[in-house]
Amino acid sequence: MQGLFLAFTLLTGAAVGWLGWRLLAQDRALARQRKVEQLEAAADRVTGALYRQMAEFEELLLTGGKRGLPEGAVLLRSQSQQIAVSPPDGLLYLPVLPAPPTIPDGLFTNAEALEFQRTDFLAAASALRRLAASGDRFVRAEALARLARNWKKAGRPEAALAAYAQLSTLGATMVDGLPAHLVALEGRCSLFHELRNAGDLEREAGILHNRLMSGEWSLVKSSYEFQVAQARRWLRRTPEAEGGGKEALSAAADLLWQAWQRGSPPKGRTIFGGDRAVLAAWSSDGEEWTAVLAPALAFDAALLEAGSFEAALIDDEGRRLIGRINKPARLRVERSQASTKLPWTVLLTSRDDGTAELAGRHRLLGGGLAMLVALLAAAGFIVSRAVSKEMAVAQLQTDFVAAVSHEFRSPLASISQIAELLDADRWPTPDHRRRGQEILTRETARLRRLVEGLLDFARMEAGTAGYRLAPLDGAEMVRGVVNEFQASANGSQIELSIATGLPHIRGDREALSRALWNLLENAVKYSAPPARVWVETSARDGVLAIRVRDEGTGIPGGEQAQIFNKFYRGSEAKARGVKGTGLGLAMVRHIVEGHGGVIRVESEPGRGSTFTLILPGGEPA
Ligand code: ADP
Repeated sequence: MQGLFLAFTLLTGAAVGWLGWRLLAQDRALARQRKVEQLEAAADRVTGALYRQMAEFEELLLTGGKRGLPEGAVLLRSQSQQIAVSPPDGLLYLPVLPAPPTIPDGLFTNAEALEFQRTDFLAAASALRRLAASGDRFVRAEALARLARNWKKAGRPEAALAAYAQLSTLGATMVDGLPAHLVALEGRCSLFHELRNAGDLEREAGILHNRLMSGEWSLVKSSYEFQVAQARRWLRRTPEAEGGGKEALSAAADLLWQAWQRGSPPKGRTIFGGDRAVLAAWSSDGEEWTAVLAPALAFDAALLEAGSFEAALIDDEGRRLIGRINKPARLRVERSQASTKLPWTVLLTSRDDGTAELAGRHRLLGGGLAMLVALLAAAGFIVSRAVSKEMAVAQLQTDFVAAVSHEFRSPLASISQIAELLDADRWPTPDHRRRGQEILTRETARLRRLVEGLLDFARMEAGTAGYRLAPLDGAEMVRGVVNEFQASANGSQIELSIATGLPHIRGDREALSRALWNLLENAVKYSAPPARVWVETSARDGVLAIRVRDEGTGIPGGEQAQIFNKFYRGSEAKARGVKGTGLGLAMVRHIVEGHGGVIRVESEPGRGSTFTLILPGGEPA
């Protein structure tokens, strides 16, 4: 029965566990699916953004930017090694500069000789002053730059500053590959530096730096980098004003131009990676090369919108051009070149497959399920215990009825046999008749005891078994019961030993006698005939102990606690078919406890048992 319950509980638990597990797995799959969908949508957004920007570029290349350029974009046009940039300040430096102006040969020979060979700076200056008034602004710019230098060398800073001031009015006029304005600013800075004029140096270097960052000057990369580094050195810090996106655009324009010079296809598009990615497209009609460049803003924006994902563009060789890739990535969505018709693969990755946010919910659900299974197990256990107890009681009662009927049957059979003999009055000898009478007396006494025992038990169960306590001589009571028992026990030997000075107790003589009788009966019943039984009484601390010892079958340790329960019969008793109802010891315990005492048992299977009644005493005798 218990096994059945256990199996049922286990099965139900397993079913609940399996259902829960399926539920969790489904939940996880759903979350993952949702995340994949989000990733797909983001991939579409990123690809869409790239498409739009590329379409815009195509149109710009077609119209040559006549309809205006989008914010941040730069259009380059080149014809025979000349480059035009729009907007003009779109780049910080240019891939190439316009051809340098032609200055008539030998114009500065005289001044150079005075400056470098004779080191007569004043003479050189006066020679240059004339040239500085030339009508050709290139000659004027060149002369003013040299003039300022000579004044400086001659130790005439004011004059040098004046020359630089004049030079700076020439603005973008190129002097030795640099704009006049830049040469003038740089000259002034280095003069202030030499003069240790920190205030003026700071101001002028600040202007120089800002102008460099504005992209208004035509410079090549090396000049730009040199000038920026120098301005920063003078400023002794890195100013906040940076070139912004223009730096990336300028670098991209430089690379694009170099590639074109090396011979790239007549039409194409590309992307330059880095912190600020730049998209570029170009086309040429043989004569003119047009290119458009712009920060890959649309891509960046789409990336930002993408949320917790990372997006990247991958080129043909699997190199990451821009963006980032999650490592390790749990989810991955790709838009290949074949499907997008773009020259790159768009790759979106996510480290989170959507299941992370479920963890808390899953823990809760798992805990709930575990609790449910535990509850089921507990309930199953309790029910199965209750049921098996119930069944054990039912079994005991069935055994009891069988045992009682059996107990009644044998004395009744003897009595009815003797009654028949009496009826016929056929006794072979007077001795037979006397034996018949003896049996009749014994069996009726047995029947009476049986019925009284059952009635006592019924009273005990109903709680109406009151004991009439009266002063009682324990020794005398024991002696009486033993003698009576000895008389009726054929063949058994009872040895009695009574200590002296036993206390008087308060007790119900009849009930206690019945208890002792029961113990004696058991001792004989569970011993091999002829039985030997020892009855001892002793006293200590005013307590009377009555001990009944036998050398019978003994009681297994596991049964010793149960033998005092009503209806309980030992395994040995049942196996050997010893008569009994299982009520004896229950009654003995009831009587002893009713007297405020206890009953103990010591027993070893095969060696015998000792039952001890311990009763609180009154005064010693
Ligand atoms: P029963 O009618 O079966 O004797 P009891 O309540 O008197 O019922 O005893 C309960 C059980 O205790 C017995 O069935 C028997 O197994 C065991 N028992 C009692 N007394 C003894 C004894 N002296 N020796 C061995 N077993 C005993």
